[in-house]
Amino acid sequence: MRGSSMTDIGEYNERLVLHTIRSSPEGIGQSDVVRRSGLSRQAVSLITRRLIAEGMIEQAGRRVSGPGKPHTLLRVVADARLTIGVHLDPAHITVVVCDLAARPVARATLDPPTDDPQADISRIAAKIDGLTLSLGAAAAPSRPAGADADLAAGGDVAGGGSAGTAGGRGPTGPEAREDALSGAGAEGPPGAADGLATRRRLLGIGIAAPAGLDATAGILRDPPWMPGWRDIPIVEELSAATGLPAVLGKDTNAALTGEIWSRHLESTQTVLYMYVGHGVGSAVSANGAVHRGGTTQAGEIGHLPIGRGDDACNCGRYGCLCLYTDAPVLVRSAQQAGVPVRDAAGMTAAIDALAAEAERGSEPAQEIIAGHGRALGEAIRILAGVHDPQRIIIGGPTWPALRALAERPAHEQVSQWLEGAHATMESSHLGDDIGAIGAACLFLDQELAPGSSTAGSL
Ligand SMILES: [Zn+2]
Repeated sequence: MRGSSMTDIGEYNERLVLHTIRSSPEGIGQSDVVRRSGLSRQAVSLITRRLIAEGMIEQAGRRVSGPGKPHTLLRVVADARLTIGVHLDPAHITVVVCDLAARPVARATLDPPTDDPQADISRIAAKIDGLTLSLGAAAAPSRPAGADADLAAGGDVAGGGSAGTAGGRGPTGPEAREDALSGAGAEGPPGAADGLATRRRLLGIGIAAPAGLDATAGILRDPPWMPGWRDIPIVEELSAATGLPAVLGKDTNAALTGEIWSRHLESTQTVLYMYVGHGVGSAVSANGAVHRGGTTQAGEIGHLPIGRGDDACNCGRYGCLCLYTDAPVLVRSAQQAGVPVRDAAGMTAAIDALAAEAERGSEPAQEIIAGHGRALGEAIRILAGVHDPQRIIIGGPTWPALRALAERPAHEQVSQWLEGAHATMESSHLGDDIGAIGAACLFLDQELAPGSSTAGSL
């Protein structure tokens, strides 16, 4: 931690004012900013003038409240700055471009990581370039045909890239993304009408990946199911390939950061997030900050014993959570039960096929997913006792597929605790792009949030 100087304090105050305005997406009066931030009226006035000049915030009409003059409302210009989110998952790579409200304005799904990280990093960098150009093209129909082709490619991927994902996945579905994409173009600030201008609005890149990793050093150490990725300095390499600064964080912690940013969660609440993907992980936040742990890998709960004594795990213990919730375990169980799922097309497709069979009435498929929910619920009950959260959120890339049949059995395991603690449990509304949206939020958080950063950076 650096010592604080006048510059640091000025920067902190500016972040605090921006955070306060951002937390009221419908608009907030300057006197409320003064009250909530605890800063002086003069300081807030100076900072808001500067933020308006920089195009970060704008005046958003007037509100009459009580006697006296109506006051002018301030709100953040969501697309004044853009951030890239990259989610490296064993089943896929997702790239999104998010605005300051953590809304994706462009997205693409790439093939899963291979044994050749250098080639994968080149693919990711090329896709970031393509998406950036496509945003510029969206804002300027008169751009040359080449740029339009990039938009078409990006739009195509946005619609079909999450192939195999079921419909009804919340507000980040392909149609919502298309809306957001055109909205970003229509409301962009002056000068945003080409790819270069879009590039200038880019703050940087957030990368979310499974542990083991060293977020502070920006290095992927030995993520499971990604055997080619050993000691890869992903932050340095992706930054060199794109010319943009980057940060790295664990996927579970990124997902919770995404929830906090996009939903303006009460910072006074302790939140427990359950991340359901290739494996299951957890994340915890208090006072609006996500707990990273001493080696930036908090929340590795795969080998949490959930009270089932008879199944041996290769870690040497019995009844570990991963034996009942890892995606490869679900697929293997399905195959053994004769449910027609194939993992050759990728784990995401196999889990979607399992969910589709369950929806069609396959009892073995339904029981496998319900069993996942029960195991998840048992883990949540243990973790709730440890962390004492007021809010529990379940999300992650495979949760949208499993939710319909896993949510109720999970809830049944926790309902008594929830009642006693007056806590709530809900499913994430961010859909299967949560890892990538959360990754973008890691960078937003580091650049713009008051308080300490949540990720290592270059
Ligand atoms: Zn184990």
